[in-house]
Amino acid sequence: MKPAPFEYFAPRTLDEALDLLESEGSEARVIAGGQSLVPMLALRLARPEVLIDLNRIPELSRIRQEGSTIHIGAMTRQAHALASSLVFEQLPLLHYGLQNVGHPPTRARGTLGGSLSHADPAAETPAVMLAYKADMVLKSKQGERIIPADEFTLGTFDTAIEPGEILAEIRVQAKPNEGAALVELSRRKGDFAMASAAARVSLAADGTCAEAHLIVGAVAPVPLRFDAVTDALKGQKFSEAVVREALELMDLELFEFDNEDISLEYRRKIGPVMAERALLQAFKRAEGMQK
Ligand SMILES: Cc1cc2nc3c(=O)[nH]c(=O)nc-3n(C[C@H](O)[C@H](O)[C@H](O)COP(=O)(O)OP(=O)(O)OC[C@H]3O[C@@H](n4cnc5c(N)ncnc54)[C@H](O)[C@@H]3O)c2cc1C
Repeated sequence: MKPAPFEYFAPRTLDEALDLLESEGSEARVIAGGQSLVPMLALRLARPEVLIDLNRIPELSRIRQEGSTIHIGAMTRQAHALASSLVFEQLPLLHYGLQNVGHPPTRARGTLGGSLSHADPAAETPAVMLAYKADMVLKSKQGERIIPADEFTLGTFDTAIEPGEILAEIRVQAKPNEGAALVELSRRKGDFAMASAAARVSLAADGTCAEAHLIVGAVAPVPLRFDAVTDALKGQKFSEAVVREALELMDLELFEFDNEDISLEYRRKIGPVMAERALLQAFKRAEGMQK
């Protein structure tokens, strides 16, 4: 099938894009890497009358550090962020998360902002940003709104982005001295996950857990944070037994997805396994930092 007809604009600045978004109203949609939107257009699952292409706006695709904050432009390609030494050193969880997003050709076009705005429940980037407690910077003709990650993803393909707004930037606090891991189970490498787990671990000087974060994705409309598990790990030396005991506190009632091909029962089995692997891998990497 071919897309329904649409009018196409390619603004050169964010201001121009916001003007267009306001003047074209609810029939307009922005396009970033097109990796999700183009198939939706082709299948006529989306039929915008106007497409506003963000690809020619350089100010939206920079990664820079200001003090302890990393600013990531929404149009930063996933491949660019994955190859970025700044991201690898300062935001290791984002690096490991992006390794699991699609394939080299989809990452070459797909953007970080597009992935977050699309809000596929199985996408890795919303889980990563939740683990980092990142801030999403939304711009419109009315000004700027800063939305914390835990208020940004609202449900399946649903975010806090209001009509007239563009996700312009993601702001994340640098975390250079911690271990991180994103582990997932998918049918083939690059496929969307059946369950994923993102973990961040930082250690005290004596090797015990100073702080940890655990997010499980692809099991509910939004990624799930499990603070009870990570609180139980604080002050402990990591071992398989310690992590397994803490994971007993994972509230599996929060898992929701139950499809014909992947049952809720199966997700409740693999979710904790992914979480255990992610926590132990993050811990090993954190230990490596101390050596
Ligand atoms: C074969 C294949 C495999 C894939 N596997 C994975 C995977 O394993 N994990 C994963 O996470 N993703 C996967 N994806 C999806 C991919 O990561 C997409 O890049 C991503 O979902 C959308 O990013 P995009 O830049 O292409 O956005 P687009 O497709 O251009 O846009 C997606 C949606 O977001 C909106 N949007 C885009 N940018 C903005 C913005 N700045 N502000 C407001 N709204 C915006 C658009 O209007 C549209 O509704 C896969 C895609 C393909 C084709």
